Amino acid sequence: MRFTCLASGSEGNCILIESMQNNKTERLLIDCGINLVNLEKRLAERSVTLKQIDGVVITHEHGDHCKGVVSVVKKIEIPVFMTYGTFLASSSFKRDLKPSFFSPHKKFNFLGFEIEPFPVPHDARETIAIIIKVGDCCLGVLTDTGMVTKHTLNVLKKVGALVIEFNYDENLLNQSKYPEALKKRISSNYGHLSNTSAFNLIRALESEYQKVIVAAHLSTNNNSESIVNSLLEKLSHESRVNTFIAGQSSGTPWIHVN
Ligand SMILES: [Zn+2]
Ligand SMILES: [Zn+2]
Repeated sequence: MRFTCLASGSEGNCILIESMQNNKTERLLIDCGINLVNLEKRLAERSVTLKQIDGVVITHEHGDHCKGVVSVVKKIEIPVFMTYGTFLASSSFKRDLKPSFFSPHKKFNFLGFEIEPFPVPHDARETIAIIIKVGDCCLGVLTDTGMVTKHTLNVLKKVGALVIEFNYDENLLNQSKYPEALKKRISSNYGHLSNTSAFNLIRALESEYQKVIVAAHLSTNNNSESIVNSLLEKLSHESRVNTFIAGQSSGTPWIHVN
């Protein structure tokens, strides 16, 4: 299995996962928070066409995770998976989509992908984080969560690669010109993960499987790549993981999960 972030941040999030089994390549998108033009461009940069996408899983109804999904599905008629709560939260979904629903507590299979959603605290109707398994390869995607629950910690112990939100630096958020209410929302238990929370979560995993960390969903105003980089350097010194930062429009290169 390999994956690449096509976009990451408050302007849009989208991850492409590719599995190669029995001489067959299958492709799944996690979230589609960029428009069709951008999606096709970023796929082309990675030698993939829109028609080669087999399905898309939506984590929650915030625009930065789903604003492109209706136009994609209208163009190529692929299955869309989401929780029923996410579906109910969007008038556009109710008007334009016929999704397949999944429980946030139950694994399901789609083609060669085993998809394990789990609920996370965030200010949307029924937000999930997700683990994708192909054979023995296991990728976790945890963006948009206000806090790390015991359950999150437990389920992520088995992943070999983890895309995890490093949303904000506490000092930069405190000093920012954002209104107090917005600062509170971001840093609340239903908001986003700070750099420190993400760093502590990765350390707490103490996982023998963990080989790749991708820092994702960095805030443009309340974070900086150099701060995140210094944390990632510490992690790679301690446990020899490969680390990446996913850029808003540059995303990441292809990353293999073993
Ligand atoms: Zn988001
Ligand atoms: Zn969100």
